[in-house]
Amino acid sequence: MKYISLLGATGSIGTQTLDIIRSNPEQFKLAAMSAGRNLDLTRKIIEEFKPELVSVQGREHCAALRQEYSHLNIQFTYSEEGLVETACYPKADIVVNAVIGSVGLDPTLQAIEAKKDIAIANKETLVTAGHLVMKAAEENKVRLLPVDSEHSAIFQALQGENEKNIDNLIITASGGSFRDRTREELKNVSVEDALNHPNWSMGAKITIDSATMMNKGLEVIEAHWLYQIPYDRIKVLLHRESIIHSMVEFHDSSIMAQLGTPDMRVPIQYALTYPDRIPFPSAKRLKLAEIGKLHFEEMDFKRFPCLQYAYDAGRAGGTMPTVLNAANEAAVAGFLERKIGFLEIETMIEKALNRHTPISNPSLDIIREADAETRQFIRSIS
Ligand code: NDP
Ligand code: MG
Repeated sequence: MKYISLLGATGSIGTQTLDIIRSNPEQFKLAAMSAGRNLDLTRKIIEEFKPELVSVQGREHCAALRQEYSHLNIQFTYSEEGLVETACYPKADIVVNAVIGSVGLDPTLQAIEAKKDIAIANKETLVTAGHLVMKAAEENKVRLLPVDSEHSAIFQALQGENEKNIDNLIITASGGSFRDRTREELKNVSVEDALNHPNWSMGAKITIDSATMMNKGLEVIEAHWLYQIPYDRIKVLLHRESIIHSMVEFHDSSIMAQLGTPDMRVPIQYALTYPDRIPFPSAKRLKLAEIGKLHFEEMDFKRFPCLQYAYDAGRAGGTMPTVLNAANEAAVAGFLERKIGFLEIETMIEKALNRHTPISNPSLDIIREADAETRQFIRSIS
């Protein structure tokens, strides 16, 4: 039996993780969970899974739940400290980090200190402080198991391989909701249009990130840290069907790829069962003869400037990726709140990057400062 601590249980990745736990009750048990503000769903999860520890964002919500479930033996906690407590829950064998944004950084670092393996969906944590997370993981000998489908594909392609033989990582991109629109056509797109992703059903922030292509940019930085590959050897390829989830090209010219129908539960489950695989009866099998053809195109960096910003920030290093991530989180929040237009997400990120002088090898405090200062700047121009 594997005991799981799930951060972000009420989100898109969180609920799909619960699906896997539900389908495999003899293998997995939800020991601890965190939610944000979705109390209705939190109640449902508590009643179904009866975790031992529950953390929510707000203090009042925590007090209400504690009273409501006083008949059950559950410990309730809240706020960012609650997230850390959930991440470090002693009984948990593995932490699934599926919160959104750099709020996931502290719980990740603390869980690593507590020697927990981490199934990491929360890519913002690796973007904002990849060097600290990787160093801590190495020092504490814990595994970071990728959940992001591209990074899981690379991880799977690397099994039994020597990482020294890698030439290139090839990350595939579906293109997001607006892949066939020109930049001119993007001026007045609505929040609803942007939330309508052709291949994947995901949380709001990552769906917008897919439309701006920032998601792919964040994934390039995520791959750089997870696999320690320089940016020049991380490529992005447009692949509309989202069937090949990513590839690894080796020195001898062989390319290993991982394929499947788009379903995040597959990489989530692999992170939980690694190095084993268990059946996944409800997964839709890939019927390649029916699909017939797969398509690939070069990425257009002019059409998707956020991807260029991410490569530039990654190469600049230091606090630059922190600024990229914080500016993006704040700008996407502004777009979702209808304060700024879609294309302003890009221009605001560019402004934040241009005004920042990177500090190399930043400490956690410097990262927190750069993150807070950048969010403040974006809010001031929104
Ligand atoms: P969602 O927005 O669907 O879920 C986010 C979760 O985090 C919710 O449980 C939410 O709680 C919680 N949360 C948000 N803010 C806070 C906070 N300040 N404190 C505590 N909890 C908080 O996101 P996704 O599931 O889409 O994404 C999660 C992560 O996984 C992201 O980093 C994303 O990039 C990555 N990812 C997602 C994929 C997908 O298919 N969705 C694919 C690959 C990667 P509540 O809702 O209760 O407020
Ligand atoms: Mg992805």
